[in-house]
Amino acid sequence: MQNDIIEPEILSGHKVRAFFTGKYTGSDLSMLSKVSGLSGDRMYLPIQKHTDKIITIINNMEQLVGDAVVTGQKDILLGVKTADCVPILLYDKKRHVAAAVHAGWRGTAASILKKTVDLLKIDFQSDPLDILMAIGPCIRQCCYTVDIDVIDAVSAATGDGDYCMQRDGKYYIDLQSANRQQAILSGMNKDHIQVIDECTFCNPDKYFSYRFLKEEAGRQGGFIAVL
Ligand SMILES: [Zn+2]
Repeated sequence: MQNDIIEPEILSGHKVRAFFTGKYTGSDLSMLSKVSGLSGDRMYLPIQKHTDKIITIINNMEQLVGDAVVTGQKDILLGVKTADCVPILLYDKKRHVAAAVHAGWRGTAASILKKTVDLLKIDFQSDPLDILMAIGPCIRQCCYTVDIDVIDAVSAATGDGDYCMQRDGKYYIDLQSANRQQAILSGMNKDHIQVIDECTFCNPDKYFSYRFLKEEAGRQGGFIAVL
């Protein structure tokens, strides 16, 4: 599967390069360089720890702990690595600011997406109605069984919605829908949000899935650069 790049339509036609990868491209810097045309020293992948920390890149490219990255600088490829968690890409078409967010259940429960939109509003004067967003491949409601504690934690951050289900006595959660709901609650337009309907666990040939491969799993991700 050599062409495993997904370029979300919602972000096409703007001064931004945005894509999700599969297993083949993964999160290897030389592969990302081929796809983006940017060299490794123009890429920023944070040290992810399921936090709600957001890193703003201005001049300093020092690698820090965080699970969301924001920049208004041109030609810097921001990225988050995932293998079941949700990669989310945002672009403010008026302010020309991009963000990449890593939202697993912990990040979703910590409202990392909402906090990223808040940072865009405060630090970049973004109007949420100008923000376009793509939610990438992850483990979806078909496969993502969770404990009730996870449902409770995500619900506390997200409010009531149709992103939790129960089947055969098991709980399932859809983190794409939960993050979509958080974005709408942050003031974004639902028509500016694209969800990629692909489950990493259902497609182990195409995607790394932590639940499928355990410790063997590599990482794909979501990547975005302002041009
Ligand atoms: Zn699935």
